Amino acid sequence: HRSKNSDQGFGFFTDDLTTQMQNRVRLENQLRQALLHREFHLVFQPRVDLKTGRVNGAEALLRWIRQDGSTVSPTEFIPILEEMGLITSVGEWALLRACHYASQWLQHGHQLCISVNLSARQLRHPKLCEIIARCLDLTGLPVELLELELTETSMLEDVEHSIDQLARLKSMGIRIAIDDFGTGYSSLAYLKRLPVDTLKIDRAFIKELSRDNTDMDIVRAVTQLAHSLNLSVTAEGVETPEQLALIKELGCNEGQGYLMAKPMPEIELLQWSRHFDISQFLPTDNN
Ligand code: C2E
Ligand code: MG
Ligand code: MG
Ligand code: MG
Repeated sequence: HRSKNSDQGFGFFTDDLTTQMQNRVRLENQLRQALLHREFHLVFQPRVDLKTGRVNGAEALLRWIRQDGSTVSPTEFIPILEEMGLITSVGEWALLRACHYASQWLQHGHQLCISVNLSARQLRHPKLCEIIARCLDLTGLPVELLELELTETSMLEDVEHSIDQLARLKSMGIRIAIDDFGTGYSSLAYLKRLPVDTLKIDRAFIKELSRDNTDMDIVRAVTQLAHSLNLSVTAEGVETPEQLALIKELGCNEGQGYLMAKPMPEIELLQWSRHFDISQFLPTDNN
């Protein structure tokens, strides 16, 4: 609110807002150009099986590298693409690329499941199933090697429609994961109704995971709940050997995080997978 004494403050505020709006408009224009100039890339972060130590698959993550070499975080530009209505085309491109690479890996003898993030708008898209079927068809990727990641929030935007859409995807044989689990508002009632295969526990719960805090209880409880619903559990954001040992001990099925590998370009992934040895990342026993 404007008040007599705050002209200065008000002036400052509008300047700030103007700058913000200019930045936003600039970013929108740059994003439109980015599509034309092919400035989007995918990087891949491995997911490892905690029981067998195998590399189960990789998550495809979008990167925007501008022509001057600068980057913008997907947490910043994806919501804008979403609002601009461009996420469907960028998302479709990402899906096709990701399936293409996974299909190539398979041809090189590496059976890796590819996880692709979908935005809320993509989930709402009436042609989603057809688009995905076409990606699989074009790339020759076996359907069981595709997993889609959706956040709780995007699934719950229109629950009934999401359930329908997910059920159709599942009937095609595609795996579905709930991403960032624990940060949204999903109630246990929905969890029962959503046709999903995997819960990815958000890294917020892994970050401070240690033998003596409540995150330990949360991860244990979520894992037990998931398993009783026949869901697999992936822990995101594993950064230390202790965290890796704990998620393994708590029964999580898979781990993903900087400890094992940061997201990497496609050409590095197979080489990395060949040399991966989980025991190198577990704490060295000292008691
Ligand atoms: P997400 O799907 O939850 O992806 C995990 C994010 O955590 C990635 O960030 C990844 O680089 C980061 N991460 C992985 N391991 C660690 C770790 O040990 N520590 C920390 N601090 N971070 C870790 P990124 O790549 O910046 O992506 C951020 C988000 O942007 C993703 O979160 C996802 O929601 C979205 N996103 C990325 N690519 C796509 C895409 O192709 N389509 C859509 N719709 N969303 C995407
Ligand atoms: Mg994800
Ligand atoms: Mg996540
Ligand atoms: Mg996230």
